Amino acid sequence: MRPTDAPLDNLHGGRKGLCMVLSAPSGAGKSTLVARLRAEFPGFAYSISCTTRAPRVGEEDGVHYHFLTRETFIIRRDAGDFAEWAEVHGNFYGTPKAPVEEKLSRGQDMLFDIDVQGALQLKQVFPQALYVFILPPSKEVLERRLRGRGTDSDEVIARRMHNALGELKEAVHFDYHIVNDDLEEAADELRAVFVAGRARAICRPGLLPGLMAQWESA
Ligand code: ADP
Ligand code: 5GP
Repeated sequence: MRPTDAPLDNLHGGRKGLCMVLSAPSGAGKSTLVARLRAEFPGFAYSISCTTRAPRVGEEDGVHYHFLTRETFIIRRDAGDFAEWAEVHGNFYGTPKAPVEEKLSRGQDMLFDIDVQGALQLKQVFPQALYVFILPPSKEVLERRLRGRGTDSDEVIARRMHNALGELKEAVHFDYHIVNDDLEEAADELRAVFVAGRARAICRPGLLPGLMAQWESA
């Protein structure tokens, strides 16, 4: 069989990786939704950020974050190692550039779990990515979830609640708004965005030329 006779599925070799960027006020449930999406689509590469905050119980260096000292972070930031970086709730966070470029060049789909400031910086670099904002159903529920998580002090929770309004004001710049009230419904919507995103023509540059070549070579 000539390559041009390959069934449509085999023409997906020309796929380009999809970038999906998720932001939310802390406590809205973004990590929970990300974990579900990653479990369902294990091929989805996750951008592991660098941070200067201390690991939480159960967090592993190199898995959840690369935990850096402030000094090391600043050296790497000044060397241009980050695709974006931001100070969030008093700590530095940044997306290492090299692994992202390497994964995207291999056509891997990539998920970014970053704050609003970082997402807006990435929009300059990857305007073609999908920008998804996860909203809490209400202020009261957001605070309850932050307390229920049991990982942050009262002071940290108060700072996160204060910052939430500023983050919500920037949500207007995102393509999708998903309310995380019922977890199943929110996960369904997120999955739908991802699946539809992968079907975008921009992610399948090899599809049309491959199909049309079957006519041209006939
Ligand atoms: P984020 O990553 O946005 O800071 P988390 O995923 O850590 O938030 O969620 C904050 C808390 O809320 C966690 O304890 C989590 O189990 C809980 N949670 C997340 N989504 C829901 C939901 N839809 N309904 C109830 N609790 C939720
Ligand atoms: P947490 O400390 O709760 O893990 O994360 C706090 C906030 O920092 C979250 O909104 C998370 O998305 C954001 N964050 C995590 N990694 C990065 C990153 O690499 N860059 C930016 N700008 N924000 C990040």
